[in-house]
Amino acid sequence: MDFNLPGEDDPRRIEVRAWFGDNPKPTYRQIAERGFTAPHWPRPWGLDADPELQYIIDTEIERTGMTPPSKINGIATNQCGQALLHFGTDAQRQRFIPPGLACEEIWCMLFSEPSGGSDLGAIRTSARRDGDNYIIKGHKIWTSIADHSDIGVLIARTDPTAPKHKGLSQFLIDMKAPGVTVRPIADLTGEENEYNEVFLDEVRVPADRLLGREGDGWRIVMSQLQTERMMMTQPAAVFGAGPTARELMSGLIQTGRIKDPLIRDEAARLYIEGELCRLLSLRSLSRRMQGQPAGVEGNLGKMIAAPHGQRICDLAKRSQGPGAMVRNPNVLPLPDKSFGRFQDWDYAYWFSPAGTLGVGTQEVLKNVVSERILGLPRELDPTADFPFNQVAVLRAAS
Ligand SMILES: Cc1cc2nc3c(=O)[nH]c(=O)nc-3n(C[C@H](O)[C@H](O)[C@H](O)COP(=O)(O)OP(=O)(O)OC[C@H]3O[C@@H](n4cnc5c(N)ncnc54)[C@H](O)[C@@H]3O)c2cc1C
Repeated sequence: MDFNLPGEDDPRRIEVRAWFGDNPKPTYRQIAERGFTAPHWPRPWGLDADPELQYIIDTEIERTGMTPPSKINGIATNQCGQALLHFGTDAQRQRFIPPGLACEEIWCMLFSEPSGGSDLGAIRTSARRDGDNYIIKGHKIWTSIADHSDIGVLIARTDPTAPKHKGLSQFLIDMKAPGVTVRPIADLTGEENEYNEVFLDEVRVPADRLLGREGDGWRIVMSQLQTERMMMTQPAAVFGAGPTARELMSGLIQTGRIKDPLIRDEAARLYIEGELCRLLSLRSLSRRMQGQPAGVEGNLGKMIAAPHGQRICDLAKRSQGPGAMVRNPNVLPLPDKSFGRFQDWDYAYWFSPAGTLGVGTQEVLKNVVSERILGLPRELDPTADFPFNQVAVLRAAS
């Protein structure tokens, strides 16, 4: 691994910092138009940046204290926007990418369904062609930020007679279209600001909103999930965001709670674990800087970073003693820097169980790591080759 990350005197860093100096309070549109939202994307959307320049821009945005565009509109600026670059038409790119990168249109990802989110090949939402439209009917669940999204990236079954992974297609749907109903779901934090159920009742979607070709849905999903897991490898409280073990340690020192030998012992262990996660994530950055493909290591990073995030939130909470029984937004002091909604350790604690479920559960990630990194035999899916509409009939008969 090459530890030589671009330093303070790197000319590219000086140039990026100068732009933020000239534009001290930039809008997200200005940042997007300067190519800083997705610098690794090709021009005109990005800067064709190599991972080093991307790293410089990310750290300079972080330095301004503003919430990075990727935390506001991650589905557009990361996994699904990237898929649109590769699989979309030029007209789709012109229509959707500029407002997506400028965070003016918020996107959500309509994949999981009540029948299960791990086995996306088994989704039941259907898309039936009707002249110049598709008619979408189905039910999605756990859709993050659907309640304030404008665009939904939806996977639906266009061919029920094809095997489960082959009859799927993706669409960019208008979340305000007639027939789309969004119902927020309260989570463990007691708030309704993450998940939603989305009901799709005969929603008419113009055929030019199909992403790629009919039947490409599974191929596109795989590319999106790989990118998404790669983003989650940072050793932070939840999904690569929020405070890290470093902030935990400094909060414990500032409050004097570190003097408790049991807390000190655990904090030291978590600090080391956090540094190991950081090295893993730097290793993957270093690989990309050397031009090597991202590979499936994002699965491994996410599998290790998610329970680590839960453990640091747990120690932050427990370090308060009996005070932890009540809601306390100031569990430990945090530095003056934006941690988004995980600014509050208590909120992060209640949200953190989601970290080992979303973007692939631990079990599913372990399957990927064992099959694709360790080379163990693949899990068998006896339904994979049957026409999807016969699987239920076969199940009933068996
Ligand atoms: C914070 C958060 C945000 C989310 N945001 C979105 C979103 O924006 N859009 C979206 O579409 N979805 C979203 N999800 C849903 C998420 O993708 C699913 O929760 C996840 O894929 C698991 O699906 P499931 O909950 O239906 O569990 P299931 O798939 O029903 O799994 C149930 C249990 O079975 C285990 N299991 C399943 N298959 C296997 C297997 N092959 N081998 C071993 N064990 C297995 C799982 O590990 C789990 O413990 C979000 C979830 C969370 C927690």
